[in-house]
Amino acid sequence: MTAEQIRTLILLILLLHVVAGIVAFSVLINSLNAKYRKFVIEHSESLKQLDEINAAYRFNAVKLFDLRHSYDNENFFDTISTRDYLIYQLAHAQKEVIKSIKAAQANKELHEKYKEEIAEKCILGTFDTDELLSNEKKLLRTEARMFKQKTKQPITAFSIYVCLELTKINGVHRDSKCQTYYSPDVMKLIQRINNKSGDFYNDTGIWDAICRVERGKVSNRLRFAIYERDGNRCRKCGRRTGDLEIDHIVPIAKGGKTTYDNLQTLCHRCNMQKGTRTEFYSNKSRRF
Ligand SMILES: [Zn+2]
Repeated sequence: MTAEQIRTLILLILLLHVVAGIVAFSVLINSLNAKYRKFVIEHSESLKQLDEINAAYRFNAVKLFDLRHSYDNENFFDTISTRDYLIYQLAHAQKEVIKSIKAAQANKELHEKYKEEIAEKCILGTFDTDELLSNEKKLLRTEARMFKQKTKQPITAFSIYVCLELTKINGVHRDSKCQTYYSPDVMKLIQRINNKSGDFYNDTGIWDAICRVERGKVSNRLRFAIYERDGNRCRKCGRRTGDLEIDHIVPIAKGGKTTYDNLQTLCHRCNMQKGTRTEFYSNKSRRF
C-alpha cells in the first residue's frame, strides 16, 4: 500500500465513525422525543380538552382565487389593470366568490368563539400525574408544540390574487403586475357590477373595465391567425392594405365576444365606416 492509499483509508474509517455517530445520536434524540410525545398524549389535560373542542367545531372550506392572464400585446398590458381584470371575471362568475366570502366570514366568527373556548378551558402544563419526566422544560416545549399543531387554523380572510403577465408572442416572460384583493373590496365591486337595469350596467366605470378586458383578448397571436384566415384582405372591400385591423362583427358594446367566429379583418377605412368606435363609448349600449 502506498502512503497515499493509507491516508485515504484512514480518512474513510474516520468518516464512517462520524456518520455512525450522527446516526446513533439522531436515533437517541428521536426515541427521547417519542418518549416525551407519548407522555404528553397520555397525560396532558389541555390536549384532551382541545380534542373535545375540536370535535365540536366544523369550519368551512374556503376557496381562495388565483386569476392569471397573459398578454402578448404591450398596449393591452399597459391599459388593463388588475382591477379591470377582476371586474371582468366577477361580472361573468361571482357565485363561487360570494359563497367563499360568506364561508370565510362564518369561519371568522366561529374562530373567535373557538379561540375563546380554548383560552378558557385549556391550561398548558396541566398533567394528570405527578410523576413528570426528568426534563420539565422539554416536556412543556413538547406539549406547546403539539398543542399548536392540533389547533385548527381555518381560513378566515377571503382573497383573490390577480396577476397579469406580459410576454413576447412566443410566450417568453417580459413583465408582470399582481395585486391581492380582499373581501371588502371585492364585495364593493360586486355591488357595483350588479347595479344593472336589465342587461345594462348602470356604472360606467364597470362597463369600461369590462370592455377593456374583452378588447384586450385580441392577442397578437389571435390577430395574426384572423389575418391569415381572411387571406390578409379586408373582408368588406377586399383590399390588401397595410392598415388592416381586427373588428368584432357583433360589437363588444352589443354583447359581442372576442371569439374566432366573431372577429374579422377590415381595413382602417371600412372599420371607421362601421363606426364601432363611437358605439363602444355609447352609454345607450352597455349590454353584455
Ligand atoms: Zn376595407
